[in-house]
Amino acid sequence: MLEDEPIFEDALFHQKRKHGVWREIEAPAIEGPIADTHAHVQMLRDPALALARAGAHNVGFVECIVDPSEDGFGPFRALPGWLLEATGTLRRITGHCECGVHEVVVAVPRVRIACGVHPHNAKLYTPELEAALRAHLADRRVSALGEIGLDYHYDLSPREVQQEVFRAQIRLAKETGLPICLHMREAHDDGFAILQEEGFPEAGTLLHCYNLDEAELRRWVDAGCFIAFGGPLTFKKADEVREAAKIVPLDRLLTETDAPFMTPEPLRGIACEPAHTVWTADLMATVRGAETPEERAVFFEQLYANAVGLLDREPTAWQRSHEDGVHA
Ligand SMILES: [Zn+2]
Ligand SMILES: [Zn+2]
Repeated sequence: MLEDEPIFEDALFHQKRKHGVWREIEAPAIEGPIADTHAHVQMLRDPALALARAGAHNVGFVECIVDPSEDGFGPFRALPGWLLEATGTLRRITGHCECGVHEVVVAVPRVRIACGVHPHNAKLYTPELEAALRAHLADRRVSALGEIGLDYHYDLSPREVQQEVFRAQIRLAKETGLPICLHMREAHDDGFAILQEEGFPEAGTLLHCYNLDEAELRRWVDAGCFIAFGGPLTFKKADEVREAAKIVPLDRLLTETDAPFMTPEPLRGIACEPAHTVWTADLMATVRGAETPEERAVFFEQLYANAVGLLDREPTAWQRSHEDGVHA
């Protein structure tokens, strides 16, 4: 994202200070694996290094968001290479030798894919693109359809087109048995109404990057959605977001980054990456009243189970019956 940023080949966090000065800062200790349920891994400058750094910080699971109208299906092909390279990089940056005798205590995260056309790109949604999307949804690595929804802040596609494409993809999610990952910006009324009309997919609905107050959140929680919080939870002026995080049932609460966007405090100003989940998770534990190491361990275990339960799922019946059609 920020092309002038140096690439640090290590497992540390670097905070950008004034006048081109960088300072190492210590990461919070997290008592158990955590999940980044929303990362645009292919947009990172060095996806393999970012995955290695995530592994070094106990991010055990990453959901990679792929928009075929923007990214093509390149990330599907690139993922095995990233993971392979990340394994070597992880050993190097954490000082684990490769002799095979000493146990490697950290591992590269499991990575699954969410695939869907972002509301910004709704105007690019054609029958051909939908056919290609459908073919890729049969790939067993795909565990969600998204991010999809409405964005009236930027209005990069006409609103009627966004709505139509949102509906089409909700229907596709139901057909394929996949949960959906929602992007809603300044469009919550219309988005919620469309979901009520179409029906919330049985496999689950994840509202990503929640950054509003409790009053808005209530109906999404009541509708049974999973709610993911990223960087905005940590922003200094975001007390209303932290208040909102308190009302989400513990078994539907998730962490994410939206990397390379939405960098959490205290790292704002640099490109976000999945390892940054530690800052959000650490603060989330505090917000939810988990204080002692024991309480925090139980808390993180629950959040991780939520993420894996929703997104690291077995192939759906539709995926099993369509995998012959998976693209090369
Ligand atoms: Zn989004
Ligand atoms: Zn996103």
